Amino acid sequence: MIVGEQKPVKEIKSYLEPYKKVLILGCGTCVKTCFAGGEEEVCELASALRLAFKQQGKKIEIEELTIERQCEDEFIRESAEAAGRNEAILTLGCGAGAQSIARRFSLMPVFPGVNTTFMGTLESQGVFTEECSGCGNCELAYFGGICPITRCSKKLMNGPCGGSSDGKCEVNKDIDCAWHLIIEKLKALGELENLNRYVPPKDWRPASGSGPRKLIREDQII
Ligand code: SF4
Ligand code: SF4
Repeated sequence: MIVGEQKPVKEIKSYLEPYKKVLILGCGTCVKTCFAGGEEEVCELASALRLAFKQQGKKIEIEELTIERQCEDEFIRESAEAAGRNEAILTLGCGAGAQSIARRFSLMPVFPGVNTTFMGTLESQGVFTEECSGCGNCELAYFGGICPITRCSKKLMNGPCGGSSDGKCEVNKDIDCAWHLIIEKLKALGELENLNRYVPPKDWRPASGSGPRKLIREDQII
């Protein structure tokens, strides 16, 4: 999932100062799962903003709505009426969702309420870890299913660097050394010979080295 966290209310409030009618638009998929932008967060943020503006003596109408996904036009359409009733939109979607909303409602000011951080997993309740950098050419097959690009602090494809101790990364003792994990995993799988393979410098063109990427699935186009 895409992981993000809500911006501070003070920052969000500063975006909305010039407006009298604002739509807070949540997204019911990734940001809901990481407690940054689902229905509940929309409700809590709306309450906090109403209170903050009231204390300031400013009148503002805040409408709340959460759609299934902000990155798909099919769902964005469901917010068209609410968008039309307001002067600005504060989106709690990820960066992709926020840009989809800004594109769809191109004549309206659209503000981000979430800082999008990474693609990751829910490791345990409330703990999310970064797992993938979207490099465009997945090489997990050679590394026991552990991504050195994302999980090694130095992004070493031919590791380890030799600096880890007790299985922890020398750059950050709070994280596991990815290469320690890779070696242990390959050992368990009986695939240690994978480490004899020299991995050539990565071609970063599929990883946005050629600008913003586009994926076209001809078989899905009707
Ligand atoms: S190799 Fe690339 S696609 Fe695969 S997990 Fe790592 S960053 Fe993601
Ligand atoms: S200690 Fe491990 S994870 Fe950290 S930079 Fe070196 S090889 Fe990468």
